[in-house]
Amino acid sequence: MITADDIGGVHIKYLYHCPRQLWLYTRGVRPESLSERVQLGQAIHDTSYPRSHPIDLGAAKLDHLDGHHWVHEVKSSSHPTSADRAQAVHYCYRLDQIGIDVQGAILKYPKVRRTVRILFGQVEADAAATDIRSALQVVTATDSPPRLTQSKCHGCSYFEYCWTE
Ligand code: SF4
Repeated sequence: MITADDIGGVHIKYLYHCPRQLWLYTRGVRPESLSERVQLGQAIHDTSYPRSHPIDLGAAKLDHLDGHHWVHEVKSSSHPTSADRAQAVHYCYRLDQIGIDVQGAILKYPKVRRTVRILFGQVEADAAATDIRSALQVVTATDSPPRLTQSKCHGCSYFEYCWTE
């Protein structure tokens, strides 16, 4: 049975993108295009942080934590999203939980040469705890959440799975 400790950054990202995606993911549904996206993300990560190693927090794995306790994440997308932010805040929350005085997160978008800085405080910690509870509600539901409207599914790796009759 999945617990709060099992909820990681990917779960939070999918929660924000689409609850149905989160539900499918936790049931082991992995469309082929997902692996292509993972490979693209890995290639961008390797180019950006050639000498760093991901930090393993159990369910959550983040790209890099610097000496000043800022989380660094590299994104393959072209624009910041609420999912990116929630995922980064989740990593900060997990670090805070294990006693690291985390300052916040720095998200880099190499494609558009943009950097977003997120401070971590009590508001963010509360939001992260709420997100974990929301994710647990979704993944423990008996039935899959409804599809989004098709216009919101553009680019989703589960598109064929959800929309092929
Ligand atoms: S295709 Fe649409 S409904 Fe299906 S998981 Fe993706 S975003 Fe959600």
